[in-house]
Amino acid sequence: MKKRESFLSYGRQWITDEDIEAVVAVLKSPFLTQGPKIEEFERKVADYVGAKYAVAFSNGTAALHGACFAAGISEGDEVITTPITFAATSNAVLYCGGKPVFSDIDERTYNIDPKEIRKQITANTKAIIPVDFTGQPADMDAIMEIADEFGLVVIEDGAHSLGAMYKGRKVGTLADMTMFSFHPVKPVTTAEGGIIVTNSEEYYEKLKRFRSHGIINQNLSRDEGPWYYEMIDLGFNYRMTDIQAALGISQMDKLDRFIKRRREIANMYNEAFKDLDCVVLPKQLEGTKSGWHLYMLQLKLDRLARSRREIFENIRAENIGVHVHYIPVYWHPYYQKLGYQRGICPKAEQWYEQALTLPIFPRMSDEDVKDVIEVVRRNIY
Ligand SMILES: *Cc1c(COP(=O)(O)O)cnc(C)c1O
Repeated sequence: MKKRESFLSYGRQWITDEDIEAVVAVLKSPFLTQGPKIEEFERKVADYVGAKYAVAFSNGTAALHGACFAAGISEGDEVITTPITFAATSNAVLYCGGKPVFSDIDERTYNIDPKEIRKQITANTKAIIPVDFTGQPADMDAIMEIADEFGLVVIEDGAHSLGAMYKGRKVGTLADMTMFSFHPVKPVTTAEGGIIVTNSEEYYEKLKRFRSHGIINQNLSRDEGPWYYEMIDLGFNYRMTDIQAALGISQMDKLDRFIKRRREIANMYNEAFKDLDCVVLPKQLEGTKSGWHLYMLQLKLDRLARSRREIFENIRAENIGVHVHYIPVYWHPYYQKLGYQRGICPKAEQWYEQALTLPIFPRMSDEDVKDVIEVVRRNIY
């Protein structure tokens, strides 16, 4: 077989001339940052998901940090999350002095399993951070029920799931706060960027302060004059620029089309691999509609002559950018140093050993998809 000439990565952005014009217009305007585009972008994302408020951040990780701060997570608090995520999810808990507690996954969806969450709750549990892994919403009804029962805050990591549906609702109002990321591989991009959407005015005010040094201009404790402002929290400079927000506004117009194309590609893969008895195809639970941020195969290693590593390397050698999402977070040396032991989430660890991410992004052509199918079918055995 002839090898593809160019490397096909697992995910990438789609920037149009309209996007570029929107960015250039801001560059020619008076405000590069702290201007009107931020609120316009926030309104657009909030309206899209049906939330009352949105606060844009410099990236999704900063947004998660803000959400953990707004939730009041501090020293001694435990926060339950999944190990099958990008390290940023649990790092945000550490930034606030809290302790991430890893809960095992549901082997059907690879999302956090509510039954496992229950086992991890202690008097110190403060919050739950489910992740909508691959774009499929976590089991939010069950998670919110647990949160209500124990008085916990729920922060949904929706980095993969902007535009995804859960029981007829868009992700964004299912939890107390929901984070979306706008990194170039995510559903839409602002280069770097993130946002928290919420229906809570209290969280909204805290998030806005936290993003900008903890400074307020209203409801001041004294009146020194028109220049006067006060810093009341130890915030950060986590602001998004107007340049990024303009790109985001323009990208949001394409989100539904992007997701439609992702679904088409996922369907093509499902059709092409359904006869392979050495892989498990991604399962969609009834009532959820994934945003298809990732398309992942689960390799039945006992039915394969080759190791995952060999399969991975052979496919990569043909310029198909397979990947693996994710290394269980607590396996990372930093977490091992904190005292997390291997083996605490056996299903997650087993998933990691069998996982293989195939390229999926809206700009992929049917030819690209066919290349992936051909190379994967030839190398998985
Ligand atoms: C991308 C991602 C983040 C972090 O978002 P950034 O915008 O890159 O900081 C957090 N959680 C998950 C699951 C992600 O995929």
